[in-house]
Amino acid sequence: MISENLLKIKSDLPEGVKLIAVSKTKTASEILEAYNAGQRLFGENKVQEMAGKYAELPKDIQWHLIGHLQSNKVKYIAHFVSLIHSVDSFKLLEVIDKEALKNDRTIDCLLQVYIADEKTKFGFDKNEIILMLESDEFKNLKNIRITGLMGMATFTNDLVKIKNEFHGLSIFFNSLKSSFFPSYTYFKEISMGMSSDYQIAIEEGSTLIRVGSKIFGSR
Ligand SMILES: *Cc1c(COP(=O)(O)O)cnc(C)c1O
Repeated sequence: MISENLLKIKSDLPEGVKLIAVSKTKTASEILEAYNAGQRLFGENKVQEMAGKYAELPKDIQWHLIGHLQSNKVKYIAHFVSLIHSVDSFKLLEVIDKEALKNDRTIDCLLQVYIADEKTKFGFDKNEIILMLESDEFKNLKNIRITGLMGMATFTNDLVKIKNEFHGLSIFFNSLKSSFFPSYTYFKEISMGMSSDYQIAIEEGSTLIRVGSKIFGSR
């Protein structure tokens, strides 16, 4: 049962780790079951699906976009999205900034870092992030705020490999924190860990875990 699964996962979370309930493909009534058990953070990977659910469901839900985002779709979520986990280019960040300005708000974003050794995953290389953070073009963006990093481990049963990839993301987060955000307390999130690997991610310093099937069942 959804509420039992949710409460079980939550009861084991250390302080400082937040649970994003990944509700992609799930119905409004399934989401409401989690909502009625106290869950307020939900993650979706498709823009249209998230916008539809936002319109239909209680307005105190915080919607997190966790899937790849195309620039031309930012406008559909800019007025309500709580956190975009999947920023993977400067061009996308510029569009998010522009749409945030139109809506008279600041949009919190995570930079998605490419940590897996698979060709299929989106994300920045670490060097690209450093170059971007150093650039004047980046410093001119006033309506976005980078609150941390997101990463997805390689799809594998090799737990040591997964742990090493999460560890690398944590190390990179700490180095960016001290180089670029030393006095900015909002730069604090590491989004890593899904149903199969969130315990490892927490050991490696995750602050946001994105869990779908372990709450809602398989898709
Ligand atoms: C679907 C998805 C998840 C959740 O996956 P589960 O294995 O169902 O927990 C987490 N992160 C991203 C980016 C996803 O697309």
